[in-house]
Amino acid sequence: MKQSRRSQYLAAAVCAALGFAVAPAGEADGTAPVSSGPPLDVYNNFGFPMGFDVSKMDTSADPRQNFQRYAAGKWLDTATLPGDLGNLDAIGLVNKQVERRVASLLVDAAAASPSAKKGTPLQQVGDLYAAGMNVERLESLGVKPLQPEWERIAKIEGRKALAEEMARLTLLTNHPVFLDVSVSLEIRDPTRYVVSVIDPELTLPAREDYLEADLAPVRAAYVQTITDSLVLAGVPAEQAKARAAKVLAIETRIAGKKLTEEQKRDFNATYQTRSYADIKAALSNLDLDAYFQALGLPTGGDLMVSEVDAMKERNAVLAEYPLSDIKDYLQWEALRLMSPYLSPALVDAQAPLTRALTGQAELPKREQVVANAVANTLGHDLGQLYVERYFPAQSRSDAEALLNDVRAEFRLRLEQNTWLTPSTKAYALEKFDKIKIVVGYPDKWIDYSSVDVQRDDYFGDVTRLNEFAVRRALARLGTPPAPDAFSNPKNSLPTVVNAGYSPDMNGIEIPAAILQPPFYDPKADAGVNYCTLGAVIGHELTHSLDWMGRLFDANGALRDWWTPADVAAFDERSKNLINQGNAYEVLPGVHLNGQLSAGENLADIGGLMLGYSALETHLKANPQDDRKIDGLTPEQRCFLAWSQIWAEKIQPELLRTYAATNPHPPGAYRMVAPPSNQQAFYDAFGIRAGDKMWVDPKDRVTMW
Ligand SMILES: [Zn+2]
Repeated sequence: MKQSRRSQYLAAAVCAALGFAVAPAGEADGTAPVSSGPPLDVYNNFGFPMGFDVSKMDTSADPRQNFQRYAAGKWLDTATLPGDLGNLDAIGLVNKQVERRVASLLVDAAAASPSAKKGTPLQQVGDLYAAGMNVERLESLGVKPLQPEWERIAKIEGRKALAEEMARLTLLTNHPVFLDVSVSLEIRDPTRYVVSVIDPELTLPAREDYLEADLAPVRAAYVQTITDSLVLAGVPAEQAKARAAKVLAIETRIAGKKLTEEQKRDFNATYQTRSYADIKAALSNLDLDAYFQALGLPTGGDLMVSEVDAMKERNAVLAEYPLSDIKDYLQWEALRLMSPYLSPALVDAQAPLTRALTGQAELPKREQVVANAVANTLGHDLGQLYVERYFPAQSRSDAEALLNDVRAEFRLRLEQNTWLTPSTKAYALEKFDKIKIVVGYPDKWIDYSSVDVQRDDYFGDVTRLNEFAVRRALARLGTPPAPDAFSNPKNSLPTVVNAGYSPDMNGIEIPAAILQPPFYDPKADAGVNYCTLGAVIGHELTHSLDWMGRLFDANGALRDWWTPADVAAFDERSKNLINQGNAYEVLPGVHLNGQLSAGENLADIGGLMLGYSALETHLKANPQDDRKIDGLTPEQRCFLAWSQIWAEKIQPELLRTYAATNPHPPGAYRMVAPPSNQQAFYDAFGIRAGDKMWVDPKDRVTMW
C-alpha cells in the first residue's frame, strides 16, 4: 500500500509492525548444507523447531523472577549470531528460511530464463539474477558502466545543467539525489495525487551519527568507505580522501537542520502545503524549473513539502561550495547508489561502515546482495514466483479467520470503551470498520513486462527498471488513486517477514512470508497462534487508533479527529508506558527512549492483550481446546509463545543504533514488557508482589 517514497517514509516511521527488517543476508545455495559451518546453524534454528517449543525454555529458571530465561533460556544459550547479521530473533530466523527459498527460486529461474518468454516474471527474474551473479563480467567491467554518468557530471556548467543531472540521477537510481521530488497522495486529501518536495534522508541513518561526539567512529568508518569506493572508481588516493571529508562536511551541515526522529512523528508539523513559488525561493541556488521539467512535472501550483529548513541549508551549501565540490558530491552519490550493480569490490568497500553501524563482522554474500536487488527492482515478479511455489491458499484463509477473531475482540473493546468522548468513540468505530486488511499477496501485480531485462547487462537492467518505477510513480499525477498493495521492498513485499499498518491507507498488509512458524503454525494449539500471529494482527490494529492513527481519518487523510479531552485521557493512560521505557537500560548507561518507543510499546501491549482475549473467547466456544499441553495451560503457552518470538541475540553496536533511531524496543524488552502490563500474565504464572517480574498495578498500562 505504499507506492510512493512519501508513503514509504510514513510506513517506516509508523510501524511495520515487527520492526525494521533485519538486513537480509545469507547462504544462497538453496539445497546444499552449509559446508563450512557447524551442522546445526541458523538455517535449522540451532537444532530447535521453528515454532513454539518447550525445548527452548530454561525450566530451571523461575518465571516469577526471570521470565526471559524461563521462556527462551535454552535458545538464548545455544543460538549464535551469524557473522553477517547484527541481530537475530524469530524475524531473522524466518528471514533466513525465506532467503533460502528465494535463493533456490532464483537459481531455478536463472536456469530456466533463457528459454522463457520475453517479459514474463520468469525471464526477467532469472536473467536479472544471472546478470548480477556474473561476477567475472562485472569485475572486468569495473566502474565502466557508470563512467558516462561521471563524465556528464564532470561537464556540468551552470545551475540548469546541475538541476537536470540531479533529476536524471533520481531516474537512474530510483532514489532521491540532493532533493526528493516525487508524486504522492496528498496527505490531507488522499483522493488525489500531488507533487511532493521533501528533504531526502542522509546516508548515515541517524542525524546524531553526524552530530554527536561519541559517534566519531561511525563518521570515520563512513569516510573510510567513501575513500575506498572512490579509489576503486579511479580517483587518486589523496584526492579521494579530501573528497570524502567534504561529503561528510556537507552532510553534517544538513544534518544539523534535520528533524529529530521524535519531531518527524508529528506529521502535522512535518508535512506542509507550500506554493511552488515559495519552494523555488527557498531553493534559489537550484534551478527548480529545470529539475521539474526534467522529470516531466508541471511547475507552479501547490506542493506537499517536508523539512524546508534542511532544504534551505542545502541551498546555502550550493551557494558556498564551488560547483566543482558539488559535482564531486554528485559523483559520490551516483557511485554510492549504483555500486551494488558494478564490480563486487565496490560492495565490499562498504564493510567499515556496515560494521560500525551494525557490529556485524561479515557482509552479506553475493547471492544475497543480488537477491536484494531483484526484490528492490522486480519485487512483484519475485513475489509471484514465491507465492506460486511456497504459499498455500490454506494459509491465506487460516490467517483471515484468526484476524477476524482478533478484529471482533477489538471492536468489542471499543464499544465498551469508557474514556473516549462519545463523538470520538463513534468515529473510532467507523474508522475501525473501514480498516482494510489484506493477506499474503496483492490481487493485482505490477507489470514490468515493458522493461528490457538482459542477461548480460546488470547495470543497464537496474537503471531501466529504476526509471520504469520512477516514471510510473510520476505518471500518477492527475489520475485517481491506485496504490500498489504489497509493494514496499523493505516492509511489505510478499517475500518480507513483516506486517504493517499504513495510516495513509487505513490498511494492514500481512505478507505471505510471515505466515509460517513461529508466527503462524497450522499445527500449533490456539494458545500459541492467538498470541503470535493474533497478537501481531492486534498490534497493527491498535496503530489505527494510537498517537499516529488518531492523526489520520477513516479514509487515510491527515486529520486529527480527537478532542483535547480524548488526547488528555490518552496521555494520562500512557504516562506509565513512557516511564517504563525510560527506566529500561538497553546497554550500560544507554536507556530506551520512552517517548520514541511509546507507539510500538503500546501496540505490543494492546496486541498481546487482544490476542489473549481472543484466545479466551475461543476457549469458551471450544472447550476441548482448554487443556494442558506439555504441562502448560493455554494461557501459559500464550505468554511463553509471545516471549519466544522476541528472544534476540544482538550486537551492542546495533543496539545503540536502534536505541537512537528505531521506535521498536529491543527484543529483551518486548519479551516481558507487554505481558507484565496484564493481570492475566501474573495469574498464569502465580507472580506476586515482591517477585522480580511484578509490576505494581498502579504502574501498569491499560489502553484498550
Ligand atoms: Zn508497530
